[in-house]
Amino acid sequence: MIHLGQWQNQKITLSRKINSLTLSRESKTETAVFSWDLAGRLWTAMINTVSYRRGLDGKVIAKWISPTQERGRRWLSLEESQQLIGYAQLSASDILTDLQQRTVVITPSADAELLTALEAAACFTWPQSLNDAAHYSQVYKPVGILPPDQYMAVVLQAAEGCSFNTCTFCDFYKSRPFHIKSPQEFSAHARAVHDYLGKGLSLRRTVFLGDANALVIPMKRLVPLLEITHNTFPVDKLGGIYAFLDGFSGEKKTIADYQTLAQMQLKRVYIGVETGSDELLSALKKPGSAADAVQTVTRLKQAGVSVGVIFLLGVGGKKYAAEHVRETIRVINAMQLGLEDILYFSEMVEHEGMEYTRSAYTQDYGLLSAAERAAQEEEITAALQFSETYGVPHISRYDIREFVY
Ligand code: SF4
Repeated sequence: MIHLGQWQNQKITLSRKINSLTLSRESKTETAVFSWDLAGRLWTAMINTVSYRRGLDGKVIAKWISPTQERGRRWLSLEESQQLIGYAQLSASDILTDLQQRTVVITPSADAELLTALEAAACFTWPQSLNDAAHYSQVYKPVGILPPDQYMAVVLQAAEGCSFNTCTFCDFYKSRPFHIKSPQEFSAHARAVHDYLGKGLSLRRTVFLGDANALVIPMKRLVPLLEITHNTFPVDKLGGIYAFLDGFSGEKKTIADYQTLAQMQLKRVYIGVETGSDELLSALKKPGSAADAVQTVTRLKQAGVSVGVIFLLGVGGKKYAAEHVRETIRVINAMQLGLEDILYFSEMVEHEGMEYTRSAYTQDYGLLSAAERAAQEEEITAALQFSETYGVPHISRYDIREFVY
């Protein structure tokens, strides 16, 4: 329900949805919009043209579009986060006090559900935000990365880390040994996540089985973990189970295995294919071949599980550009992607200390500019062929610098 009113010479709007509370305040000089989950955690904010998103780990990212239409982003400092969370909390608590003292009138008048949600938001002070982030880090090992359509999932770390950890361009899990949780450990973890999210669970969609390669877990061990997931969370209501899988090696699953997992509500599997070029994959120290990835995609789709495949833009620089484009087109076309699938293009993000960056320098890759990477994406997508029977997959950008959970 949407409630409108005037408060301190500002137009205010309060909206209590089934999964969140939104408050907007609009003066002559500023428009501020805040959203909280029903446990009271600040989730998003927008102040004039800058949007903010607070992750469960307490970090806040700011994003904006420049006058020249370029996307900008940066992580807030602790002081800036404190200021933002304080501003949101004070807005909620001041309006709540005035509603309780009837010194402000909103139409329709506040009901019990709105007041409860506002009370939770008014309690989300800076110390409470720090406590919540500390609780989060007791429940989770750092969540390295998720596909962009899974940022609002309930992450359950059935395994921790990556079973390979060799890829030169990836340092998400370098400090963490690969570990598959026992049923006892996983059950305690799932329960702890459930308790931690509390009423905030209503904001979450889907269950994402972490970390980097959860589906590499052998079936004998994986099925009991999925049963625990179903016993702890309303998986159907949340929209099913999603996970990453390396498309290459490890415990290869059969079509029958994937059918069993589909019956247990596995909906989509994400595979970081990176490039269709085997030579480049080998230079990146990514195990396996592009043909393995095509085979994994084919098996999943035959079992009725959709896929999200991720390719890197600019990887291998000028040295590999022609081969990367040619082989990537060939491999994507061989995957027979359809309407239910997602094709992600992710810009290669180089930074100091990464093995990839050192190789790019010593082997003279020749970095591609942002415009050249965009051109690479255009060249690949222009050559893709999708069948009328399966339809066209959703094609989107995947910017790992914007990841927040
Ligand atoms: S398999 Fe994936 S998660 Fe593991 S090191 Fe390679 S890119 Fe990173």
